[in-house]
Amino acid sequence: MYLKRLEIQGFKSFANKIEMQFENGIIGVVGPNGSGKSNISDSIRWVLGEQSPKSLRGSKMEDVIFAGTNSRKPLGMAEVSLTLDNTSMLMPIDYGEVTITRRVYRSGESEYYLNKASCRLKDIRELLMDTGIGKEGYSIIGQGKIDEILSSKPEERRLIFEEAAGIIKYKSRRDEAEKK
Ligand code: ATP
Ligand code: MG
Repeated sequence: MYLKRLEIQGFKSFANKIEMQFENGIIGVVGPNGSGKSNISDSIRWVLGEQSPKSLRGSKMEDVIFAGTNSRKPLGMAEVSLTLDNTSMLMPIDYGEVTITRRVYRSGESEYYLNKASCRLKDIRELLMDTGIGKEGYSIIGQGKIDEILSSKPEERRLIFEEAAGIIKYKSRRDEAEKK
């Protein structure tokens, strides 16, 4: 399972639609200060369901929408699509390729899509559970995360190992069943 494609439009500094194709392997993103490198990783975090504007370096969710420049008007919508390779069938879905899309308008609520069909954030969370991908997954290690892991309580650290071991979905099903 790996990132195959990222499409960004109207998100942060990316006013025009851009598309990046990735190969299975190591990818480095290079560029001058302020050119948008971190905005790319923010877009990945966001499409995977990040709800905290602060962790996207903003103060409200609207801040992810292109805010305009001297020569260009602000936009009204941000959209990011992330395509993951699923030929290993790690995600429990019958597609060799999965595209997750998130869209937000200035008016508020986000819309989510799985392979272009409208869905809930919950559906995306369930699909990514135990894959290590996802906003809480260990696949995104931001600045300061290593320190956080090392200084966390044993119970918190255990969650990371549980996700790696692939047992989070069973725990979450048990918790849901206990609630009923
Ligand atoms: P560094 O090397 O310093 O880490 P970087 O390449 O990671 O830089 P980013 O932080 O990704 O750069 O990009 C910062 C740029 O994105 C700034 O110029 C900022 O004005 C712009 N930016 C952030 N949010 C928006 C927005 N909503 N609309 C337009 N531009 C934005
Ligand atoms: Mg940066």
